[in-house]
Amino acid sequence: MKYDYLIVGAGLFGAVFSHEAMKAGKKVLVLEKRNHIAGNTYTEKIHGINVHKYGAHIFHTNSREIWKYVNEFAEFNGFINSPVANYKGEMYSLPFNMYTFNEMWGVTTPAEAEKKINEQREAYHIDEPSNLEEQAISLVGEDIYEKLIKGYTEKQWGRPCKELPSFIIKRLPVRFTYNNNYFNAAYQGIPIGGYTEIIRKLFEGAEIRLNTNFLDNREEYEGLADKIIYTGPIDEYFDYSLGRLEYRSLRFESEVVDSDNFQGNAVINYTDRETPWTRIIEHKWFEKMGLESSSEGCLDDGKDEKKTVITREYSLEWKPGDEPYYPVNDEKNQELYNKYCDLASQNNKVIFGGRLGEYKYYDMDVIIGKALELAKNEF
Ligand code: FAD
Ligand code: UDP
Repeated sequence: MKYDYLIVGAGLFGAVFSHEAMKAGKKVLVLEKRNHIAGNTYTEKIHGINVHKYGAHIFHTNSREIWKYVNEFAEFNGFINSPVANYKGEMYSLPFNMYTFNEMWGVTTPAEAEKKINEQREAYHIDEPSNLEEQAISLVGEDIYEKLIKGYTEKQWGRPCKELPSFIIKRLPVRFTYNNNYFNAAYQGIPIGGYTEIIRKLFEGAEIRLNTNFLDNREEYEGLADKIIYTGPIDEYFDYSLGRLEYRSLRFESEVVDSDNFQGNAVINYTDRETPWTRIIEHKWFEKMGLESSSEGCLDDGKDEKKTVITREYSLEWKPGDEPYYPVNDEKNQELYNKYCDLASQNNKVIFGGRLGEYKYYDMDVIIGKALELAKNEF
């Protein structure tokens, strides 16, 4: 065999695994069907601003080891994600915290906020929340549910909140402190220079073929290596022989605006049902927040302070051929995925990894952890 490992997909999972494999003296070949590396973490410089081409990516983790690992490949700034919700022109702090409760009800203490939420919860007589609507009302009351959750969630998932599982909302913090940090994470930031640079460094020394779809020529590629790490969709690898897994898809509309400040924050969520997009990202604030008046800032070569790049994000029902972004982890799809796993376990040569290979919505820190774990098992 010419290579020890054939790695399908030049995203974060493939990059970390490749790096570790090369460190262990293995020879790898990487195939990527897109015309660039870095998968969905890909950033591209436009007017000196690192634009997150596949949606906002904020690195956050509670793992010291993973934070240390990723810092070997980039310096991180101190960005803390604090999105703001726009409900028909009313602005609210996120995640739900004392600032939000004050903006919504004028309350100023945790006791007042809890009293207000309890009153609204009791009016609904919910003992054990059985869907997202009940879960949301139990956590934050009816007013916040109606203005900040219902419209956004129904746009995001394309289904009524009553038909969605409650766990979706559980990952959002609810705090009785004045704290707008969106994540409960010990470490957080944006890599200075963009994510693509991290992935480029991880792949240093690897042979990479871009614009190359493994499935177009699978027999030939399979013959090139002892083992295959497959980070594409698991159902596609098996020619959908057991049926198709479902996803939610996204559409990104980017625009260069002649202004130095379009919306005053990196992320604004539009939480009403009528606005067609779910959020607008203003990319420069991932790198410049806290450095507004500094002449140096973080915008590097090609910087043009009079321009800003924004992206509107729309959530779409996925259909075959669309880019798969969010796995739909309901029972039906999970059952189908498990059947694909049974098929996969009969094949010793191929290992499925990453967000699409494992059909799970993994954050970047989890992906790094999974790829390191696999590398440890392999070498
Ligand atoms: P991918 O990045 O999808 O890489 C897989 C690669 O395989 C792709 O480049 C694809 O083109 C390629 N491929 C597939 N099939 C084939 C084939 N047959 N032949 C060749 N190549 C193939 N995580 C966070 O931690 N923080 C965030 O703020 C955050 N925000 C996100 C926002 C959005 C909108 C999305 C969609 C994800 C977000 N994530 C975030 C998650 C993050 O993107 C993932 O954790 C990470 O990108 C997963 O890496 P991966 O290598 O598994 O997958
Ligand atoms: N959510 C909401 N209003 C908001 C932000 C989030 O109702 O302003 C809900 C929504 O159901 C979403 C879930 O919380 O799917 C998780 O939010 P998160 O930001 O983690 O979702 P992401 O878009 O990053 O997957």
